[in-house]
Amino acid sequence: MIQLRAAIAFLAGMQLSCMLSAWPALAVDCPGNPDALGTSRTITVDPAALARVGAMNYQQTMPLEPKEVILTFDDGPWPPTTMRALEILKSQCVKATFFLIGRSAQAFASTAQQIARDGHTVASHSQNHPYFNRVAYARGVREIDDSFRSIAAALEPAGFKPAPFFRFPGLLSTQAYENYLQSHGITSVSTDVLASDWFRRLQKHPEGILERAITRLEARGSGILLLHDIKPATVLMLPDLLKELKERGYKIVHMVPAENAAPLIAAAPESSAPETKASTADTDKPKSGRRRIAALNAESHKSKTGKRRIVASAEARQARHKPPENASSFSATKPAEKYWPRVIEKDSHAM
Ligand SMILES: [Zn+2]
Repeated sequence: MIQLRAAIAFLAGMQLSCMLSAWPALAVDCPGNPDALGTSRTITVDPAALARVGAMNYQQTMPLEPKEVILTFDDGPWPPTTMRALEILKSQCVKATFFLIGRSAQAFASTAQQIARDGHTVASHSQNHPYFNRVAYARGVREIDDSFRSIAAALEPAGFKPAPFFRFPGLLSTQAYENYLQSHGITSVSTDVLASDWFRRLQKHPEGILERAITRLEARGSGILLLHDIKPATVLMLPDLLKELKERGYKIVHMVPAENAAPLIAAAPESSAPETKASTADTDKPKSGRRRIAALNAESHKSKTGKRRIVASAEARQARHKPPENASSFSATKPAEKYWPRVIEKDSHAM
C-alpha cells in the first residue's frame, strides 16, 4: 500500500509539473513605493489539468518555493472593507485572489469590478455560502452555477470574467461536488494556511490574526493563505501582515487561470436566472432582454474553443440592493445592516 501511495504521489507530482506553468520572478515597479512587497511571479493554473489544490483538503497544493505565499480573500465583496483591502494591496503592488459570494457580487457589482480592475483574480465562493456537506446535491449544484453566473454578470460591464476557481464555504465539500466542478472545468481551491480571522474572539484583536498567519506560514514554509476581506480586523492587520512578510523575506505569488479557461456553466433558463424578480430594466423591456440573452447564448456557442461559456444574463446584471458603493472611507464600525446581504450576516462568524 505504501509503495502504491508513493507511486501515486510521484505520478501526481509529474502530472502537476505539466499542468502548471510559471515564469520566473520579474522586478515589478511599484509607483511611489520602491520598497513595496510587490508580486514576484504568476502561476497559471489550467483547471482542465489541475482539478483540486490546497493541502487542507487535498494531497497536492501549488508548486511554491520556500517563502512564497498566495494571498486569498473569501466572502466579499463588502465595499467598506473590500475597498480598503484593495487600497492596501495596491499600495504594495500585491496581487491576490478573491473568492466572492455570488449574491454579494450582485449587490456590490462595482466593488467586484474594482477587484478585477486592480488585476486580482476573481473567483467563486458559492452563491449564498451554504455548507455543501449539509445541502441536497441539486441545491449545491445550483449554488455553484448561480455563483458563476452572478459573478460573470457583475464583472461583464467592466469587461472581466470570473476565473474558473471555486472555494467551498468552510472548506466543506463532498466527492460529488468536486466531480461536478472538475467536469465543468473548474478547479477546487482549498488552502494551506488559515489565519482564523473569522474567530469572534479575534475581531477585537487583529494582532492575534497577524500572529496566527505568520506563525503558521513560518511553520509550513510557504503556502496559500486564507483571509476574509469582509472582516474589519483582517483589513486592519493587513498592512502589518504585508510588512511582516516583506521583512521576513516572503514573496507574493499570484495564481491566474490559463488563457481561455472558463467555467463551463450554461446560461440559466430565464425562469431561474438570478435576480429575475429584482430586475427593473428587464421588466421595462422584457422582449429586448430575451433577445439579448438569445444573442449572448448564440455568441457563446461560437467561441473559438467550442466550449460553452458563461453567459451574462441581462437579468443578472441588475442588483437587488442599491449598494453603498461609494463607501471607500473605511471604518471598523458596524456596517449599515440594511445593505448587508442576509447570508453574510448569518455567516459572519463562519468561514
Ligand atoms: Zn466563506
